Amino acid sequence: MSVLIIVEHDNQSLKSATLHAVTAARECGGNITLLVCGWQCEPVAQAAAKVAGVARVLVADAPCFADGLAENVAAQVVTLAGAFSHVMATATATGKNVLPRVAALLDVAQVSEITRVVDAHTFERPIYAGNVIATVRSSDPIKVISVRATAFEAAPLEGGRALIETIAAVEDTGLSRLISRQTIASDRPELASARIVVSGGRGLGSGAHYAALLEPLADKLNAALGASRAAVDAGYVPNDYQIGQTGKVVAPELYIAVGISGAIQHLAGMKDSKVIVAINKDADAPIFSVADYGLVGDLFEVLPELVAQLG
Ligand SMILES: Cc1cc2nc3c(=O)[nH]c(=O)nc-3n(C[C@H](O)[C@H](O)[C@H](O)COP(=O)(O)OP(=O)(O)OC[C@H]3O[C@@H](n4cnc5c(N)ncnc54)[C@H](O)[C@@H]3O)c2cc1C
Repeated sequence: MSVLIIVEHDNQSLKSATLHAVTAARECGGNITLLVCGWQCEPVAQAAAKVAGVARVLVADAPCFADGLAENVAAQVVTLAGAFSHVMATATATGKNVLPRVAALLDVAQVSEITRVVDAHTFERPIYAGNVIATVRSSDPIKVISVRATAFEAAPLEGGRALIETIAAVEDTGLSRLISRQTIASDRPELASARIVVSGGRGLGSGAHYAALLEPLADKLNAALGASRAAVDAGYVPNDYQIGQTGKVVAPELYIAVGISGAIQHLAGMKDSKVIVAINKDADAPIFSVADYGLVGDLFEVLPELVAQLG
């Protein structure tokens, strides 16, 4: 077995998402090679070489990779893939953008969002919004696999001493270019990797209430903030807060759901959290079926009290 992992980065630092794919790759066995496609991305290559369990880092450094455009990255991966039994990335927005293009160009079927490696050809993955686990076996010569980050521990950032090799970058495909990027600046922990997530739904009633009630709680707990789709659609918060089937999948140690009914599409994104706390005034809300601790009450009374109790 030999696994090629597409590294996620911003040309300066390695994104922790990649470390989860490294663990999944280790479970497949064999050699692990990390591929860094970037522009002036030397710090990323250095960090990648230190990741435990990695044998080799390939670096394609060229302006056409500056913005991580899927067309160019996929073209680079395809030039290398023939030497590998597996091509992997973590199932983030970036991984989901690049990998299916790679699979189509290689004429193989991608296996998406695996949650367990049974053996190097057989994998488990959730279907129907996480209500069924499918075990799938791939007979493709090159297995193109995206990895659900929350299902695999992050590989240690230290301990590896991989060789770094510079490779020739592909020509710019010229098919796309980045016009602009709007990023949301936040001092809070990143949602996908936070230890505690405080999440709000339609029950909050408005963006102003969301901010006034949930931010103090998140501040006390050093938590990331999340939301249901109803809260996003109503404009309380931007859509990268959304947790669920069509948003982010999280599995923090503590998930606090406030004014969220617990629709199956929402549960798909958070039901693997270690401890789930639900605050809802409707005792029959489905969220209570997955909650370890539930409080039936009006969030407008309960939350300020909770924050006060936290001191
Ligand atoms: C294809 C598809 C994909 C979807 N993807 C997602 C997804 O990724 N993520 C997602 O979240 N949803 C998703 N949805 C939407 C999902 O079906 C639900 O509509 C949504 O999750 C509901 O959000 P909510 O719980 O905030 O709102 P509601 O269902 O309206 O629930 C609000 C809750 O707040 C409680 N409440 C109201 N006032 C108070 C109060 N004062 N105190 C305490 N509790 C109160 C109510 O009792 C209620 O339980 C998807 C739907 C579809 C069809």
